[in-house]
Amino acid sequence: MSQTNTITHDIIVVGAGLAGSWAALAASKAGVKDIGVLSKLHPLRSHSGAAQGGIAAALNNVRPVPGSGSSGPLEAIPPGEAPIDSWELHMFDTIKGSDWLGDQDAIEIMVKEAPDLIYEYEHMGCVFSRLEDGRIAQRRFGGHSTPRANYSADYTGHVLLHTIYEQALRYGVKYYPEWYCLDLIIEDNVCRGVVAMDILTGKLYTMRAKAVMFGTGGYGRAWKITSNATANTGDGVAIAYNAGVPLMDMEFVQFHPTGLYGKGILMSEACRGEGGYLRNSDGDRFMEKYAAGLMELAPRDLVSRSEQLEINEGRGVGPDKGGVYLDLRHLGPEKIMSRLPQVRELAHEFLGVDIIHDMVPIQPTAHYSMGGIPANVDGQVIADAEGTPVVGFYAAGECACISVHGANRLGTNSLLDASLFGRRAGKAMAAFIQNGAKLYPISGDPAQRQEERIQRLMDAPASSKESVAQIGAELKETMTNDCGVFRDGERMARALRKIKELQARFPNARVMDKSRRFNTDVLGAIETEHLLTFAEVVVASALNRTESRGAHWRTDFGRRDDTNWLKHTLVFKNGEEGPRLGYKSVNIDWEKYPPQERKY
Ligand SMILES: Cc1cc2nc3c(=O)[nH]c(=O)nc-3n(C[C@H](O)[C@H](O)[C@H](O)COP(=O)(O)OP(=O)(O)OC[C@H]3O[C@@H](n4cnc5c(N)ncnc54)[C@H](O)[C@@H]3O)c2cc1C
Repeated sequence: MSQTNTITHDIIVVGAGLAGSWAALAASKAGVKDIGVLSKLHPLRSHSGAAQGGIAAALNNVRPVPGSGSSGPLEAIPPGEAPIDSWELHMFDTIKGSDWLGDQDAIEIMVKEAPDLIYEYEHMGCVFSRLEDGRIAQRRFGGHSTPRANYSADYTGHVLLHTIYEQALRYGVKYYPEWYCLDLIIEDNVCRGVVAMDILTGKLYTMRAKAVMFGTGGYGRAWKITSNATANTGDGVAIAYNAGVPLMDMEFVQFHPTGLYGKGILMSEACRGEGGYLRNSDGDRFMEKYAAGLMELAPRDLVSRSEQLEINEGRGVGPDKGGVYLDLRHLGPEKIMSRLPQVRELAHEFLGVDIIHDMVPIQPTAHYSMGGIPANVDGQVIADAEGTPVVGFYAAGECACISVHGANRLGTNSLLDASLFGRRAGKAMAAFIQNGAKLYPISGDPAQRQEERIQRLMDAPASSKESVAQIGAELKETMTNDCGVFRDGERMARALRKIKELQARFPNARVMDKSRRFNTDVLGAIETEHLLTFAEVVVASALNRTESRGAHWRTDFGRRDDTNWLKHTLVFKNGEEGPRLGYKSVNIDWEKYPPQERKY
């Protein structure tokens, strides 16, 4: 037997970002008080706190000044005057943004409940930016046909996360900060708990629960150039996949158009929402060629591809001509300081550019994972294409694929998705517990298996030349070069071979730190193993999908193909043979929102 301890809760949530903390808060408010939330980071360091631009909801607080055009100034809508926005419009924009791959039943729930969610944030004391009359301020965002991004300067995620964490504490939620989830225990399609490590002591625990939720966030760290925090290593998706849960639509990875050149750090889309321009080496606003209607405020997939084309055709900027310029100078110091203070600081700190006076070089950066653990609109994880639930297992936020974003997410819809479906999953778990959910026994000793996994890492021969860092670096290079903004069959087949090679080399990689307390060396190795696990699924899914849709753009199959590909990819782990691919139908209202050509 292992030396591990057992901890039991009614509900265990893994992840303390917006999805996880909302779920815990909602479940507690619904009457379930025994809730534990694990987070490998301090909860307030979750990536949700890095979100800048805004959270979408059709509140109808502002409109463009009449006659000023699509990027002109905005004004408050005087009380009593006709609204310009509606959930229907938000829904259509989201479906169009998703290139018709989003599930329309889920999208409808999200956009309809969005205003209520924002007001719940407001009533909890969230410090939104305000209009003169006190209503919540709104700005434009890409692919949204009206200004519906509710924001707090460019610190939106920060204020939302603080609000929700404080409230969860107030409602008695127990946090386990700096606890790392290593494994998910599912037997006979019933989820029974997780195995986790207290990072400070290195001790492992079997954590039993009647319901488990994953809110473990995104996985941009598999790419070299990424806007994601170092913690975004896709642990949750890899752990769920290893436990037999399928993954959905993993080929759809969003590249954000404005990552700081060479660094990937995000310059919020609010830069363009507030009126910023994109220019090539000739100084031209090249978006005129690609999306004359929406210009810089076209959706992210389109803008990233346009940038990459400019770069590929020799009109790039920067040391190796691999970027383009973001030009904010015309916004003026007052607007920049009040609406984009963090962006200014980031550009200054990391590239030494003051955006008030100079253009800043940027490039597409891996930003958001549309795919993930498949779940229904109550966050209930499903085991197959028919929607059979995995009893007691829930997922929400970026690690989940409830499929509101389909093949491409619109900016500001993710803070909304994470908060709203986190809240719904929390309520659903509370109902599940209150309806008599049982605590199921666990057979064997899953914690011991994790002990052995850690021991294997520590025991790798000292003579081995393999390093975890080197394997991680080669993977990231491969993903950026061969499974990035533009893809083709040859490069992706090469990427798949490379991932297989790296997976084979991994067992020989050495961990230098042999101690137990706060061993980040071991955790880094485990995270790299997770990257290798889901990266294979990403590339296999992308190679299999022989069309271009949303963020998945193939130069060898340059068109959307609804006849063959208007379906979700569902990938199952198939032992040593690698991923087994299947499909799931898309929920479409053929009367109201049939597929159309996607033009901006
Ligand atoms: C720079 C940046 C800016 C963004 N701006 C916007 C924006 O303006 N608007 C918008 O809508 N979206 C934005 N997004 C996207 C959005 O912020 C995220 O999709 C969303 O916040 C994800 O929330 P989450 O709760 O799912 O995950 P996260 O907030 O990433 O939280 C994940 C949690 O899981 C925990 N965790 C992970 N693995 C483990 C493990 N193995 N064991 C224990 N704990 C674990 C982490 O500790 C963390 O608490 C932005 C993203 C980035 C990167």
